[in-house]
Amino acid sequence: MLGKKTDPKELKEALFWERKNAWDHIPDPQMKHLENYMREYRSFLDLAKTERESVETAVEMLEKAGFSNIRTTKDTGKIYYNHHDRALAVFRQGKAPIQKDLRIIVAHVDSPRLDLKQYPLYEDEELAMLKTHYYGGIKKYQWVSRPMALHGVIAFPDGTVDSIVIGEAEDDPVFTVSDLLPHLAKKAQMGKKADEFIPAEKLNILFGGRPFTDDKEVKDRVKLHVLSLLNEAYGITEDDFISADLEIVPAGKARDVGLDRALIGAYGQDDRVCAFSALRAVTDTDDPDVSSLILLLDKEEIGSEGASGANTWIAELVLGYILARHGLDQSGVVRRLLANAQCLSADVNAAVHPDWKEVHELRNAAYINGGLTLSKFTGVRGKGGSNEAPAEYVAQLRDLFDRNNIVWRVAELGKTDEGGGGTIAKFMSYYCMKVIDAGVGVLDMHSPFEITSKADIWMMYRAFGAFLKS
Ligand code: MN
Ligand code: MN
Repeated sequence: MLGKKTDPKELKEALFWERKNAWDHIPDPQMKHLENYMREYRSFLDLAKTERESVETAVEMLEKAGFSNIRTTKDTGKIYYNHHDRALAVFRQGKAPIQKDLRIIVAHVDSPRLDLKQYPLYEDEELAMLKTHYYGGIKKYQWVSRPMALHGVIAFPDGTVDSIVIGEAEDDPVFTVSDLLPHLAKKAQMGKKADEFIPAEKLNILFGGRPFTDDKEVKDRVKLHVLSLLNEAYGITEDDFISADLEIVPAGKARDVGLDRALIGAYGQDDRVCAFSALRAVTDTDDPDVSSLILLLDKEEIGSEGASGANTWIAELVLGYILARHGLDQSGVVRRLLANAQCLSADVNAAVHPDWKEVHELRNAAYINGGLTLSKFTGVRGKGGSNEAPAEYVAQLRDLFDRNNIVWRVAELGKTDEGGGGTIAKFMSYYCMKVIDAGVGVLDMHSPFEITSKADIWMMYRAFGAFLKS
């Protein structure tokens, strides 16, 4: 209750919710830290363009911060668990008894991209080409006529696994999906719907163009050339593509965007912006009371199915390992701990686009510079397929973030019935824990160049830290 206020201005200030710009709430002394953090975030994005590279880069960060592999240590203070090199769990023990309470932040490290097919390589019109099968929800026309890089691994029958990155070093060649020139596109493309003018089977990679030999009796001379180069460098034959996870992603580094450098533009910020912030929060938080578990998972972009995704019992598996070391390995203890846990499902939301406001419900939308974005629920058409956070949990987080001077707001993904989408939240709610979506607004989501605000990232990082400390 406010007591009797008659000044309408005062009353309004006390009663109305007010939109904030996160930049207005970052004190000057924090700005230097913010810029350092963003530099480190950009290098993380440059190194971690696939789920495997994200796990590898995260492990390096964690080891630098004194965390050890659960397989090589008996300790449970600061550990990580690498799941098939595609997903990662990080555990940080708090001062309170381990079985009592837990804070969980879960993010995903897979992003939309073009995967190579199993028999990708062919020659057509004396050009070497690679067939792709896109992964996740993309607007296909955004992925043509731009420099692309090849990232991934090839596993050989003798048990060895080789990593490949081509297209990121300054003097590396790059690849591209070649598009049709406007002069000839009138019938073939221009009258068609946007999701039809680049059909999936035309998302083929231009991979080479020089014959191996001038002997025209030899068929597929260009294919032979690129395959011989691959063989020289990696020892592979055409069969080896079958046991490979090879991904075509946009080439190049993350960049500051805007004359004032307010924004970051890069491939794969959905959801590596949350993954990086969760990692930094768990490594930077000193002496937490409550233990924390960070899960960086794969397969979110295709529905979280699959052995490295959220729709598995990975949380039980990891906590089972840890609790067993404390003599608490009954599944009941693990499940009770998960049911009592508080979770942030750390994922991005769609920021209002100044040119496309009509798809958002502007009162309940994410904005660039809106700070941390909380989504009480996700889903489509009447909250279908979503988890909804209970009011009590939202109230508790409101209090936590306000006390820590974190700018935050709530948002839905677009207008009701306009679209929608799901996140990992519902898979975490399977364990009966409290969970809410928390992230930042993104422009150009799922494009080769996604845009975020540094002020939002900073608020999210600080919010994650406050959450793990709470
Ligand atoms: Mn996401
Ligand atoms: Mn996504």
